Amino acid sequence: MSKGVLAVVSGFSGAGKGTVMKRLMEKYHNYALSVSVTTRNPREGEKHGREYFFHTNSEVEEMIRNDQLLEYARYVDHYYGTPRSYVEDRLNEGKDVILEIEIQGAMQIKKKVPEAVLIFITPPSMEELKNRLVGRGSEKPEVIESRLKRASEEAEGIDKYDYLLVNDQVEDCVDALHEIILSEHLRTQRNCELINRIRQESRIFMKGE
Ligand code: 5GP
Repeated sequence: MSKGVLAVVSGFSGAGKGTVMKRLMEKYHNYALSVSVTTRNPREGEKHGREYFFHTNSEVEEMIRNDQLLEYARYVDHYYGTPRSYVEDRLNEGKDVILEIEIQGAMQIKKKVPEAVLIFITPPSMEELKNRLVGRGSEKPEVIESRLKRASEEAEGIDKYDYLLVNDQVEDCVDALHEIILSEHLRTQRNCELINRIRQESRIFMKGE
C-alpha cells in the first residue's frame, strides 16, 4: 500500500479553515485530521481530544524534550504542536493526513518532510477576516488585535506555500483542496513502483516483438 499524502493547511486566524476542514472530513473519506496539543484555554464547545489536546506548559515542554511532537510553535503566547505518532501511523496506513497549523510549524514540516504539500487558505479580504474574528465573539479585543497583527506577518510568508486558496465559497474551497491532494498522489516521485513496472513491461514487450 502506498503511503498517504501529508498536507499542511495554514491560513490567517478567522480565514474559515475550521469550517473547510470539517466539511472536507464529512465529504471525503480518506482523510485523517491531526489533533494538536495546545496550552491555550478551550473555547466554548471545544472538547479535549476533539479540537485539541489541552495541556499545561510543562506538559508540552516535556513532549518537546521527548521528541513526541513533529513540529511545534508559539502562537500569540501559547504553545501549539503536532503529535508525531498519530501522523506517522495514519500515513503508513495510507491515509492522507491534514495538519491545520500556522506558518512556523509549516516551515518545520517543509524541512523535515519535503514531499508534504503546503496550502495556504485566505479569506476574500482582510475586512472579511476582521468581521469573522469579531463575529466569532470568542476572543477579547486585544487577542483579536494580536491575531490580526500575526495575520499581516504571516502574509509575508504565503509564497513559501505550494498552493493558495481563496475561501469565498466553502464548498468550492473544499473541492479545490481535495483535488490538490488527489493530484499529489499522481506525482511521479510518489509512484516509483509503478514506474519500474511500466519500464519492465515495456522492455519485455519490446523483446517479444
Ligand atoms: P486557534 O487558537 O485559533 O485554534 O489556532 C491558532 C493558530 O494555531 C492557527 O493558525 C492554527 O492553525 C495554529 N495551530 C493549531 N494547531 C497547531 C499545531 O499543532 N502546530 C502549529 N504550529 N500551529 C498550530
